[in-house]
Amino acid sequence: QKITIAVDGYSSCGKSTTAKKVAARLGYSYIDTGAMYRAVTLYFYQHLVTITNEKDVAKALDNIQIEFRRNPNDGRNETYLNGLNVEDEIRKLYIANQVSEVSAIAEVRHAMVAQQRKMGKKKGVVMDGRDIGTVVFPDAELKIFMTADPIIRANRRQIELNERGDLVDIEEIIDNIKKRDLLDTTRKESPLRKAEDAIDVDTSYMTLDEQVEMVCILADE
Ligand code: C5P
Repeated sequence: QKITIAVDGYSSCGKSTTAKKVAARLGYSYIDTGAMYRAVTLYFYQHLVTITNEKDVAKALDNIQIEFRRNPNDGRNETYLNGLNVEDEIRKLYIANQVSEVSAIAEVRHAMVAQQRKMGKKKGVVMDGRDIGTVVFPDAELKIFMTADPIIRANRRQIELNERGDLVDIEEIIDNIKKRDLLDTTRKESPLRKAEDAIDVDTSYMTLDEQVEMVCILADE
C-alpha cells in the first residue's frame, strides 16, 4: 500500500537528500517544493518584480511554469522554469538570500500549494518542504519533522555550495540560515511548524544512510 510522506523542517537538515533516497528506495516519486519557491524567486529577480506590488506578483505568477524533469544521464530530477533548466542557478546563495521573502507572499504560496497538490495527487510520493504536513497534505500517512544543530546545518550547506562551485564563507551561510529560520517560522501565511502528528528526527549526529533507513522503517509501519 503506497502512502504520502511529508518531510518538513528547517533548511539544511538533510531533508531533500534523505527524501530523494527514500523515494528511490521505495519506488516513490520525489517532489522538492523548496525548488519551486526558489524558481519563483529567480523569476522575480530576473523580471524585477516588486514583491509589494500585488498586481505585479499576480501577473508574474500567471507567467511562471515550473516542472521537474529527469536528467537521462544521472536519473536526477531537475527544476525547469518556463522550459529552461534552472537547477544550478536556484541553488546559489543570492537566491537563498531572497527566497524566504518571496515565499512569505500569500499569493505565491497559494499558487505553489495548488500545484503541489496536483503533482502529489497519486499515492507513493515523498514531498519535502516547510508546510507539507500542515498545509499541502495534512492527511499524509507519514510526517517527518527534521531538525539539526544550526552549526552542523551551516557546515553541511557549505560543503554542498562548495561542491557546486559557490565558494562562500561560513559566516555568510550562518547568517542566511538564521535569517531564513526567522522568516520561515514567523511569516503570517503557513509558517514553518511541526504538525501535531509529525515525528521528530534530529539529524545532527545521524549519517545519511541512517536517516534514510529510519524513514523507510517508519513508512513500512
Ligand atoms: O528547502 P529549501 O531550502 O530549498 O527551501 C528554500 C526556501 O523556500 C525556504 O527557506 C522557505 O522560505 C521556502 N519554502 C517554503 N515552503 C516550502 C518549501 C520551501 O516556504 N514548502
